[in-house]
Amino acid sequence: MTAHVIDGDRLAEELRASVEADAAALADEGVAPGLATVLVGDDYASIAYERRVRRLTEELGCRFASEHLPADAAQADVLAAVGKLNADPRVSGVLVLRPLPPQVDEGDVYRTLDPLKDIEAVHPDNAGLLALGQPRFVPSTPASVFWMLDRYVESTGRDPASFYNGLDLVLVGRSNNVGKPALWLGLARNATVVSAHHHTAEAGRLEEHARRADILVVAAGVPRLVTAAMVKPGAIVIDVGINPETDPATGRVHLVGDVDFDSVAEVAAAVSPVPGGVGPITDVFLLSNTVRAARLRAAIDR
Ligand code: NAD
Repeated sequence: MTAHVIDGDRLAEELRASVEADAAALADEGVAPGLATVLVGDDYASIAYERRVRRLTEELGCRFASEHLPADAAQADVLAAVGKLNADPRVSGVLVLRPLPPQVDEGDVYRTLDPLKDIEAVHPDNAGLLALGQPRFVPSTPASVFWMLDRYVESTGRDPASFYNGLDLVLVGRSNNVGKPALWLGLARNATVVSAHHHTAEAGRLEEHARRADILVVAAGVPRLVTAAMVKPGAIVIDVGINPETDPATGRVHLVGDVDFDSVAEVAAAVSPVPGGVGPITDVFLLSNTVRAARLRAAIDR
């Protein structure tokens, strides 16, 4: 293996220390950040994510609340749950966990969120501000991707403020919560950004685009989609994918990324692993955004 393996667990610890300090400074001003989740149904991954986020929130001395609705909840009940959290002054930030069941319109739920509590920037106001390069909140997963990239670039003695200028950044996946916001963040760093998605793959052109990338960010939800043949030698590869896989021999479930780590590590300059890559940083960024939301609200109320 030749690539540097980016240690997401260590970076998450570093970020956590600064978020902890921020939350403590806010507490000294009499402001207590609070995070609330909206969970509809019993999706295994969402419940696991909520559990992790709750633990972290409480460890940082912040309040946690949850609105848990059954899988057959009516749209009106979900909107009412969001409205309740919007009105609760103890809640600074609201996370709506995906997937929502088919009878609930995701867009309607997002539009109902108080934009000042919309820490994942899913409300059109916040998504628009991000697209304009004036973010109120940067969604936690793409924020983590670029925070990880910036730290790696710094560790090689280069300046993240100019490193991306004109480089080819290829994003695989164009979801509203990861791929699209990452596109805006890449443009804001002056990269030449290409958005590849399942139609790119269906047209047989994924490899051609991926191989051009100086920086390749993969968020497709397809286990080991990106192999060494799709990576330019010396590229930086960030794997966002989290895919549960059952070992046929033991029956045990483990997580794999969207990148074929072993082969890609032979050609890339740096690669982030799964688990232990983007995931742990994302959890901390969510809290960072919650603290930011509490600070914004306190400034308005002052
Ligand atoms: P999504 O299903 O909403 O979107 C997937 C995207 O990938 C789509 O734009 C689709 O067009 C594209 N795609 C699908 N198959 C493809 C293919 N064969 N080739 C190219 N593009 C393809 O998923 P999402 O919510 O963006 O999540 C993507 C992955 O990232 C999942 O594995 C998810 O679990 C993971 N994820 C990780 C974190 C984290 O913190 N690390 C956070 C969110 C999501």
